[in-house]
This record gives sequence, structure tokens and C-alpha cells, in this order.
Amino acid sequence: MSRFWSDVVKGLKPYVPGEQPRLANLVKLNTNENPYGPSPRALDAIRAATGESLKLYPDPNAEQLKLAISKYHGVEAKNVFVGNGSDEVLAHVFLGLLKQARPILFPDISYSFYPVYCGLYQVASETIALADDYSIRIDDYARPNGGIIFPNPNAPTGCLVPLAEIERLLQANTDSVVVIDEAYVDFGGESAIPLTARYTNLLVVQTLSKSRSLAGLRVGFAVGHADLIEALERVKNSFNSYPLDRLAIAGAVAAFEDRDYFEKTCHAVIVTREKLVKELKDLGFEVLPSAANFIFARHPRHDAEESALALRQRSIIVRHFKLPRIEQFLRITVGTDEQCAALVAALKEILSA
Ligand SMILES: *Cc1c(COP(=O)(O)O)cnc(C)c1O
Repeated sequence: MSRFWSDVVKGLKPYVPGEQPRLANLVKLNTNENPYGPSPRALDAIRAATGESLKLYPDPNAEQLKLAISKYHGVEAKNVFVGNGSDEVLAHVFLGLLKQARPILFPDISYSFYPVYCGLYQVASETIALADDYSIRIDDYARPNGGIIFPNPNAPTGCLVPLAEIERLLQANTDSVVVIDEAYVDFGGESAIPLTARYTNLLVVQTLSKSRSLAGLRVGFAVGHADLIEALERVKNSFNSYPLDRLAIAGAVAAFEDRDYFEKTCHAVIVTREKLVKELKDLGFEVLPSAANFIFARHPRHDAEESALALRQRSIIVRHFKLPRIEQFLRITVGTDEQCAALVAALKEILSA
């Protein structure tokens, strides 16, 4: 605290990202990165973009990328907003669409950035408790609200709300914006993007950080009715005209064009996840059904925080949240088969010690 801080800054409770330790030989299963790395075509495009042209500003509207995304998802470019990671897109969503007279709704166990944006932008919110099985119950959101937001699949649980349930929510909730944060949808969910053609209050947010393995490039986007997109453009153009640099635009476009690599690597993650779930269950873990590239698991007889510490001593890091209802869970990113085998071997040791 300093006397120079503004009142706004004094009141902030910033998000705490998963750590990024610089240790060699670390099995890093704590921040849901994709172990397979970006498409080689994306890397080539980024290399090709490093040259003289960097002296020039990038396209403030990233039209080329909007076109690539709109083509991929069967929408028009005017239905697409792009930002510096989906976190930035979400920030603009909170200010531009979710800051309303009535409180917005999101699950009590969800992406922990949502309450942070509420604090930053003074957005009123109410949390809706997940069911006892940690699923999102759509009927619980049937109440007056200034907007609704949740990840699907949810984070950090990995649980998926079926698309038919999302549509039921949209039918019941027509007077405020519904935001579906699909950071993990490519690992087993069905995107709600096609519904944006029929529901003008639906905004779907996605990222290239997880399924396209470009967390380091910082690219996210939103798809929805042109009026919703315009709200985000207004915020963006009042904040930073060039959120995507030339390398990010080039790499993201190429990533969308390389459908084969994308499908192959997503499939590999899913196969490894199913194997890991089975192995953890064999060790006595309760594992929530995951449609994401991570799993959320607890052991009835072993403390999660202690297990996370014991894993760390073996150079394996997973995420543990010291929060009500989930403090006995570990969130484990699905790595390569080798990384997951190392995790299972270490857990075997720890549980039998
Ligand atoms: C990872 C994640 C994001 C942020 O992704 P970036 O595009 O890397 O900013 C957004 N929402 C959820 C639920 C996430 O897990």
C-alpha cells in the first residue's frame, strides 16, 4: 500500500495465476496448457512475420483473423471480436455487457477471474451454488439478473452442461446477456456458437491458449450478434487499439487453417485423459466427469494439499485451491502419456507411504 495508490487500486483483489516455475525436468500439470505445442504451420507463420514490417502497427481490427475465425465457425466477420487472450475479451465483456443495474449470476465454483473483473469494474454479482455433484443446474439461474456467465465445460471441475440445456437457459432468459466461456470446449463439448444465429443475447468466448496450444501468444475471441460485438469494439477502442500484434495475428490465422493438427492433438489429449481417469480411480480417487484437458479429483483418505506438496517434492506440480467445497480436490492438467504416467507413479508412492 502506498499513499499514491488510487482508491480503485486499494480495493482490488487481483487474480493469482498458476505459477510458471523455471525449473528443468518439471512435470507441469498446473495451468492447463496443451503438452503438444502449437501447429508447426502457426510457428512458421510467426517466424515469417518477424521482419521489417514490425516497424508498422498491426491491423487494429485484425480483419484477417476475424475472417479465419468466421470461416472456421460458419459466421460472419461482424460476429467476431478478437482480443489479447480471452481474459482480455472477458474483461471487455464485464464492462461492456455485464455491468448492469441487476447483479449478474455465475457459479460459486467457477473461473476465479470473474469475481476479479466484478471488483475491477464494480459489477454486482450473485453466485449460484453448484449441485452436490458439482454440476451446473440450469434451473437455478431462473431469476432476475443482469447477465449470466459460466465456463462450459466449467473450470475447475471439468463438468459439461449439454448444449440442449444451454438452449433451455437461453429460452428462459431472454432479457439479459448469457456468456458461455468455452475455453475447454474442444476437448469434449459441443460449442454453442451455432446458437448465436438464433439467440441475439448469447455471446460465446473461446481461446487459442488451450486446444490450439498458443497460451504464450495471447489470442482469444468472442462470437455473437453484431450488436454485442459492437459493444466490445467500443470498449476495446477506448482501451487499446492494437491488442493483437502482428505475430499473434499471423500465428492465430495459421492455427485455424491447420485443422488436421488441431483435431489430432485434441484427440490425443482426450485419449490420455480417459486413461488417466481410469488409473486415478484405480488408486481410489473420486474423479468428476471431465470434458476438458484437466481433471478434478479427490481422495477419500488423503489430504489434497499434502498430496500436492508431496508431488511438488517429486517435481510434479498440479493445482490446489484452498477454497470452500473444493479444498480436497486436485486439479490436474492432462499432459503427455509420459507425464501422466509419472504423475500416477508418484501418487502411488505417496498414497502408500
Ligand atoms: C484459461 C481460461 C481462460 C483464459 O484464457 P486466455 O485466452 O489464455 O486468457 C478463460 N476462461 C477460462 C475458464 C479459462 O480456463
